[in-house]
Amino acid sequence: MRQHGVMTTISLVQGDITEQQADAIVNAANSSLLGGGGVDGAIHRRGGPEILAACRDLRASHYGKGLGVGQAVATTAGRLPARWVIHTVGPVWSAEEDRSGLLASCYRESLRVADELGASSVAFPAVSTGVYGWPLDDGARIALETVRRADTAVTDVRFVLFDETAYAVFAALH
Ligand code: ADP
Repeated sequence: MRQHGVMTTISLVQGDITEQQADAIVNAANSSLLGGGGVDGAIHRRGGPEILAACRDLRASHYGKGLGVGQAVATTAGRLPARWVIHTVGPVWSAEEDRSGLLASCYRESLRVADELGASSVAFPAVSTGVYGWPLDDGARIALETVRRADTAVTDVRFVLFDETAYAVFAALH
């Protein structure tokens, strides 16, 4: 049942998510929460050591085995313009196994965490479509469908696509 009853505007931006002025930006993290390449590397580089320190605290306090695939958790955004970083762990693409439920969960759980924080604007990257190998068009479809269906108080969801190709794929489905 829908509880929030607010309209969520979904928009697309081509650019670098670390530059976004949003209450929260979402990180395509890995389960260690201790940094990686791609968007994760960029967030830690630009956001400074405070984010990694918060991630280490989370590992020590709640996530001894790491954050599970499809889950999400928030930290400070350090020096970034955003207020929070919501870390989510996307599934690695598999041709043998349908993991799309886990990818959808990344978007849903990130919005649930955003609601807990009271964030009204959230910027997402295309989770799993980089090093984790998810086909861009399918990743975009899952991202857009999941956010459209989500029951959230977030009013502004922005997909921040790093390159022209990713932007075009999202735009075709938007
Ligand atoms: P994953 O391991 O979940 O695949 P990646 O960071 O490798 O995560 O890639 C996820 C998506 O984020 C890819 O489409 C990649 O092009 C994009 N990306 C990489 N850097 C940035 C950035 N600074 N801002 C927004 N998107 C980015």
